[in-house]
Amino acid sequence: MAESIDESSCILCGRPSAPPRETFSVDELTEDWRRSFAVDVRPEFANITMVSLYHCSFCDLDFFIPAVTGSSEFYGELAKFPWYYMSDKWEFSMAEKDVPHRASLVEFGCGKGDFLKRVRSRKKADVLGVELGTPVVPESGERDIPMMRAGEGLTRRIRGVFPKGVDVVCAFQFLEHAANPRAFIEDVLSVLRPGGRLLISVPNDAGFLKDIRPTLHTPPHHVTRWSPRTLEAVAEQFALTLDHLAYEPLARYHRELWLAAYVARARSLGVSPLEQKFRMTMLSFFLKSHLIRRWIRGHTIYARYTV
Ligand SMILES: [Zn+2]
Repeated sequence: MAESIDESSCILCGRPSAPPRETFSVDELTEDWRRSFAVDVRPEFANITMVSLYHCSFCDLDFFIPAVTGSSEFYGELAKFPWYYMSDKWEFSMAEKDVPHRASLVEFGCGKGDFLKRVRSRKKADVLGVELGTPVVPESGERDIPMMRAGEGLTRRIRGVFPKGVDVVCAFQFLEHAANPRAFIEDVLSVLRPGGRLLISVPNDAGFLKDIRPTLHTPPHHVTRWSPRTLEAVAEQFALTLDHLAYEPLARYHRELWLAAYVARARSLGVSPLEQKFRMTMLSFFLKSHLIRRWIRGHTIYARYTV
């Protein structure tokens, strides 16, 4: 699904953007997805043959134009991988602390509703999940989590459920999939009450991801890339207060990616193959310890805003 957006301006802050920093052929992306995940993404691009990656020098957002986002079928394919919808994430623990007792809470891109169940149980929150057409069928026993499908009149429907406004809106690993993040944030602000909170997590594009660019970080999966600076710019752009910005420590299951990024960086700096191998051996050993990994920045950044 491609969304038509003015190519001359940033899709988040609206400022003029420079010419594309990189262009990808759809053939190249299709082959990459086939090799990495045995998923055929070609139909997602319809008749599009090239996508370009733009960068905004003001808000630091990287964004693909055209913004080709994945269909339900595409996410259905990814959902077959057991790791794709994780029932627990680092940001869940961060966000749980930021949800007041008995808050009304809406989560966009709620998956199976694991975070919603958690805050309903531990914080007595009044929860609502919004899914975006992804065919995630709640398992037995989970059907009592109220969920809404995105689409026509979504903000009106949410206001119908919470007429006094919502206390907390969450969007975890969501914005990087959105073709129009500005419209999304405007929608969020239209349902939050004054003083309400917006809790966001995104992959940190200023971290190890920038050195390896994994397939999942490309369309039709991720269509934007976010850095801490971009999250600060959101506060400036929408007159929000950024109360808290936190970095996920390196997770055990991201060690291999982190090491691959380290090698890519070492190679680009001209480190000899023998030296690379030595460093890899040492790092592989030390990264087994969570006491060491906790001091290394991992995959995700988390931000808490107040309206
Ligand atoms: Zn911008």
